[in-house]
Amino acid sequence: MSKSAKHPLPVFDPASFKLPPTGVESHAHLDDRRFDSDRAEVLSRAKAAGIAFIGQVFLSSEQLEQGQGLFALYPEVFFLLAIHPNEAYLLTDGELEKLRVNCKTNRRIRAVGETGLDYYWKDCAREAQKTTFIRLIHLALEVGLPISVHSREATEDTLEILVAEGAVNHPLVWHCFGGDSAMAERILKLGWHISCPGPVTFPANKTLREAIKNIPADRLMLETDCPYLAPMPYRGKRNEPAYLALTVQAMAEARGVDAAELWTSCGKTAMKFFGLVPGQPCSYSISTSKLQPCSVDVSAAGGSLGSALPPKCFA
Ligand SMILES: [Zn+2]
Repeated sequence: MSKSAKHPLPVFDPASFKLPPTGVESHAHLDDRRFDSDRAEVLSRAKAAGIAFIGQVFLSSEQLEQGQGLFALYPEVFFLLAIHPNEAYLLTDGELEKLRVNCKTNRRIRAVGETGLDYYWKDCAREAQKTTFIRLIHLALEVGLPISVHSREATEDTLEILVAEGAVNHPLVWHCFGGDSAMAERILKLGWHISCPGPVTFPANKTLREAIKNIPADRLMLETDCPYLAPMPYRGKRNEPAYLALTVQAMAEARGVDAAELWTSCGKTAMKFFGLVPGQPCSYSISTSKLQPCSVDVSAAGGSLGSALPPKCFA
């Protein structure tokens, strides 16, 4: 008999966590084909778990065109749009122009992302990744949208480029944070936000829990990055937004606070960051000038750019 047959996974009941309808899932890939058979159920479980808004990431203008119809009936789903660092070569001049037009005209798009550097996978040369990252930072600054950053085994280069290209003092979230307290501090000093994924629930990730403990709630968000990175006890399975209920329990425990309270404060942080208003569909018109960056001491942040460890997302 297999181990899983002896110890079947508990049936997931999103309502059993009794979280208020104030949560925000800041980063999901629900257009993935692994959701094709039950996307409606996944979205309804997200609602039952207390998720008010979901950030759906599209990784090219073609993916947006093909995938946005999947969410036509779900006004709680907003979009992030960019080119993934592993596919940096996709950013031709023509594609950049399409992204620009979409960012300017599609009100469901609330951030440029995920964009950044990924030195873990060897799919794309580092120089090409850097060029694409820089062009997408400039796009975000031009259209006035927040940036969602993907950085894997590339912390120093990511920080260096963001600072050099003028992203300090611009709304930015470090997606899928996996670093330690020193790394978190560097990001916070630059005025940015941090998004915590499911691996915070993994027993070995004490360093991450320690880092999450000290991040002010007005800089902290929750995400799944689903279908990847499912929290315990579903590690290795398909992830989905409702599992944020498990992630927030581990974070609340680390911080010694009430999970429902943390759920709401992280939700408020994400709503402010992405310009979302409770009860309003994600397609309503916003003025991006309402997006408020944090004010930061750039000199202090610049002084500590050489010390933090690279993120370890998969410990
Ligand atoms: Zn992602």
